[in-house]
Amino acid sequence: MRADLPGKGRGACALCGTVERSRLFEKDGYPIARCLSCGLIQVDAELSRDELERIYGEEYFTDDELFHDYVAERSIRLESGAARARTLAGIVPEGRLLDVGCAAGFFLEAASRHYDVTGAEMSPFASEYARSEFGLRVLTGDVTEVGLEGERFDVVTMWNTIEHLADPLAAARAIAALARPGGLLVLSTGDVTGPLARRGLREWNLMTPPYHLFFFSPRTIDLLLAKTGFRLRRIVYDGAVAMGGPLASRRARRAASMVGLGNVMTVYASRASSPLGGPSRLRRLAARYRPLSRALPGRP
Ligand SMILES: [Zn+2]
Repeated sequence: MRADLPGKGRGACALCGTVERSRLFEKDGYPIARCLSCGLIQVDAELSRDELERIYGEEYFTDDELFHDYVAERSIRLESGAARARTLAGIVPEGRLLDVGCAAGFFLEAASRHYDVTGAEMSPFASEYARSEFGLRVLTGDVTEVGLEGERFDVVTMWNTIEHLADPLAAARAIAALARPGGLLVLSTGDVTGPLARRGLREWNLMTPPYHLFFFSPRTIDLLLAKTGFRLRRIVYDGAVAMGGPLASRRARRAASMVGLGNVMTVYASRASSPLGGPSRLRRLAARYRPLSRALPGRP
């Protein structure tokens, strides 16, 4: 790693704690490694809070290159947020919803038609936008530290966020403590086993360190959930998401997902009453075919 890049060497796998890993390649100066025990692919460096805060300063949400037209696409994002919220309301019709990594609050604003909503967002710029534009309850900071202890949520969402976090395991534990037993967790993230990643991991459009630090698969997401008290229930592929490159436009993304190049998985899980241990191939197989209406066990 070049001396001017942030981060120090990672001591162990962020998911299972195993030290042994194989270095795959370097991307933009950051080493990428695969854990030899659980298989999680991760940036082989630990970034400090200060380093992450600098990376997620105002530029991230306004710079054309990095987060092009995020705020400018307000009406489109409110529309797609409304579609997501309607899907969730078909599973859990009402209650309290927490959106972790809520960014500028577009999904949260749409979800407020169905739920009593709260957001957590690391970026001071984005969280202030959500508060001032929409009047939403959005707390600035990491979900492990925003002071929600003692509150309970029926639905927790995390859209394209977990791959950005310094410690996804700590975040999932914090979320488990905030989720009502039997409650719903929905998260989306890139699938490192998807067709676009398989064409070349180094050139994959979601291989963007230091913004993306973790590259999950159905198996490693199953492990993360099982370790933190969630039961994987459903995985849906809804298309490609790109921050740059040839798939950055909406039209290109829609076309890519229509021809089966979807590389983002939306994962539905239920809060279990106790940790489940390891990942399960049968659980992942069932998660491919179970109807979304049965994402929560015990519902007709
Ligand atoms: Zn591991």
